[in-house]
Amino acid sequence: MSMTVSASKPTVWHPFTQQKTAPLPLKVKRGNGIYLELEDGRKLIDCISSWWVNIHGHSHPSIARAIFEQAQKLEHVIFAGFTHEPAEELAGQLLKHLPSNLKHVFYSDNGSTSVEVALKMACQYWYNQGQKRQHFIAFEGGYHGDTFGAMSAGRTSPFWQPFESMLFQVDTIPFPTTYENDGEVQNKEELSLNKLESYLQKQAQNYAAIIIEPLIQGAAGMRMCRSQFLYRLQLIAKQFGIPLIYDEVMTGFGRTGEWFACVKSNTQPDIICLSKGITGGFLPLSATIVTENIFDKFYSDDIQKTFFHGHSYTANPLACAAAIASFKLLEDNPEQFRRFEKLHRKKTNEYLQTIADAKKIRQIRFCGTVVAFDINIEENTNYFASIGTLLKEAFLKRNLLIRPLGNTVYLMPPYCIEEGQLDNVYRTLKDVLQESS
Ligand SMILES: *Cc1c(COP(=O)(O)O)cnc(C)c1O
Repeated sequence: MSMTVSASKPTVWHPFTQQKTAPLPLKVKRGNGIYLELEDGRKLIDCISSWWVNIHGHSHPSIARAIFEQAQKLEHVIFAGFTHEPAEELAGQLLKHLPSNLKHVFYSDNGSTSVEVALKMACQYWYNQGQKRQHFIAFEGGYHGDTFGAMSAGRTSPFWQPFESMLFQVDTIPFPTTYENDGEVQNKEELSLNKLESYLQKQAQNYAAIIIEPLIQGAAGMRMCRSQFLYRLQLIAKQFGIPLIYDEVMTGFGRTGEWFACVKSNTQPDIICLSKGITGGFLPLSATIVTENIFDKFYSDDIQKTFFHGHSYTANPLACAAAIASFKLLEDNPEQFRRFEKLHRKKTNEYLQTIADAKKIRQIRFCGTVVAFDINIEENTNYFASIGTLLKEAFLKRNLLIRPLGNTVYLMPPYCIEEGQLDNVYRTLKDVLQESS
């Protein structure tokens, strides 16, 4: 066997990773509740629910059992021309907890495709009525996934430069990001809605839909907006007859302290995208759920009005069984996700107030199970770019899995974390932040 240079290069190509300069990936042997056990014996507390998916803790026995039982009955079947009980039951569960205007569930298998489906549905909703509408309105900083449509909708992301000219037309408006003691929030909301209205007054007939991550923009740095803003956004969308898409891929299933961000904000999107927490983090699955009005534009004797879209693993029965089991856990104890906002406030007061007073951190914000703040450093310095990586390493040394987004530090733990465990996390957070500046 000849040794080549490439022998030192990894066989497995990891996502969002510069393979040449990144530290070697940590090998995880098992997961149990809030803990991840590494091959070298270390035990990390998962403070970010893996990639924001793991809502009940790792390897939850009742979800594991549901998958095992389903696997012995039916592992998979083509979903065109066939259906199965787990998919039907899960659709009923989803509708039970969503606003009553949402009525029809389309399955796919990851967050990006749930968005891709929503964008395609919005376009064809107009096409089926004889209108060509291919422009979208999205929010600055929005992240909707890595496929081409999702990239276009999140076009202000710095990640997409190599593909810039291949992305389709999106007009963006500012996201009125807010935090504790923000005196400017109303102005920001006004500015954002004014820009929206000016786009719509100029060319409403060109827009297929408006897309937003409601209450929390995740990848942009856990940027939060108010329910009041969503309410006014919905009014304007309705006034102009433009479908409103909620990308709740991250905010769904208890993350915001309510079942969904639309429930918490008491607003009703025309299309909602769900994924991440849907199976409790066990298997890939997603859903795009629409109103009767949208569904009706496809429901026809005309074959051309069909939604010609589907994936091999659409509505996989194992994933649906996992999702039903995960739903059951949420339904058995919704207090578990509802308690968080109060808890985060209390712990932030207890552990981080002195650091905030010393102006080391700023823009503290809370939404349900998520708390976030920014490290107070000057932007556009090299330190700004590397602070996240430095902190990530410092947290890892103390056995916490926390991945800052730029200079934003956030916690998004599995809902099963106990108060004492959360105390440990906050105490360590405080120690690391005190040392690092
Ligand atoms: C993660 C995420 C996506 C993409 O989901 P994937 O499953 O990673 O494709 C889309 N929208 C939001 C808001 C997300 O957080």
